[in-house]
Amino acid sequence: MLKIGILLGDDIGLEVVPEAVKVMKAASAKVGFKAAWKQLPIGRKAHESHGHTMPASTVKALTGMDGWLLGPIGHSAYPRNDPTWTNTGLRKRFDLFASIKPVKAYQGIPSLHKNVDIVFLREVTEGMQSSGVVVAGSGEFRPNDEISIGMRVVTRKGANRVAREAFEIARTRPRKKVTAVHKAPTYKLCCGMFAEECRKVAAEYPDIKLDEVLVDGFALKLVMNPQQFDMVVTTNQFGDILTDEGAAIVGGLGLAPGLCVGEHKAMSQATHGSAPDIAGKNIANPFAMIMSGKMLLEWLGRKHKQPKAVKAAKLIDAAMDKVIAEAKHLTPDLGGTATTVEMGNAVVRALRAKAPAARACA
Ligand code: NAD
Repeated sequence: MLKIGILLGDDIGLEVVPEAVKVMKAASAKVGFKAAWKQLPIGRKAHESHGHTMPASTVKALTGMDGWLLGPIGHSAYPRNDPTWTNTGLRKRFDLFASIKPVKAYQGIPSLHKNVDIVFLREVTEGMQSSGVVVAGSGEFRPNDEISIGMRVVTRKGANRVAREAFEIARTRPRKKVTAVHKAPTYKLCCGMFAEECRKVAAEYPDIKLDEVLVDGFALKLVMNPQQFDMVVTTNQFGDILTDEGAAIVGGLGLAPGLCVGEHKAMSQATHGSAPDIAGKNIANPFAMIMSGKMLLEWLGRKHKQPKAVKAAKLIDAAMDKVIAEAKHLTPDLGGTATTVEMGNAVVRALRAKAPAARACA
């Protein structure tokens, strides 16, 4: 049985993660998918109970989990230079090398573009992101006050595994197409190696078409004509920027779910932070966390060959589409008046109302 951890995080994490778990469990029950769920301490609450924001017992428990939901962490409110108040560091600890970020436009939500359905895959363990590329230090230094130097790392292994993940996901999507975003003509070695690995992997997936687009042109096309893209794979810093641009064209932060994946484990993590300004008011939008949980079920189902988990994810997708299209139970940031819990309940009702996926497919 798959093991799924629940890490609430801080502030609105305490409100949106329970909604995601409620929806995931309801969908799982509907299709007969069974998992072992376990809540683990993290964040300020863990500091109160265990004296550390990331207790050793939590890290140890995660080692035995297949995946987990991580609520937003209120890092900026943690005291600096106190080792018991830490950033989570879970991506690095568990080698979660890619971040999957869907960008989807909904009819009922105001957005710059309609008919957009893109999945971004961003490499997150190497590239330009300074703290991510080294074991100690930051990857940046300033030898004197006039010069700053930053480092970029691309490895064949890192590029190959993120490209492979992109082609695997593309196989689950109707358009069977991957766009690799880089700038190999200019960054001949780093982007060049990334592009070479994408082409090598593409040769193993003859059913999927590979396109290559230079990053500056891609940034323009994403604003002008995003409908042409489907599955996009890119390096760390380009992905950091382009996924925010992607969220912007379909309605913003509240609609930006995410999943960090490794070889065997995955972690749901919405793009938004812990929103201390609205915490405790029951008005946080649970969309991003619910859809991050949906992505976890989809990924675990594919990796572990558990089709019922994939069916549960499809149910959540359809139920969320319905709740958004009806626009009766949306939180204030989406123009509604519903509470966090009411929106979560509406998704559960919508998925319970649908015929079970097994019967629907028959
Ligand atoms: P934020 O994303 O928490 O909030 C930015 C704005 O968006 C706020 O006005 C907030 O109310 C709103 N918002 C965010 N999520 C929302 C939701 N689900 N529903 C409705 N409105 C929402 O960014 P911030 O204010 O810069 O950061 C707050 C804290 O979160 C900081 O401590 C920061 O370090 C942390 N943070 C954590 C993560 C993470 O754990 N993944 C990511 C970003 C920021």
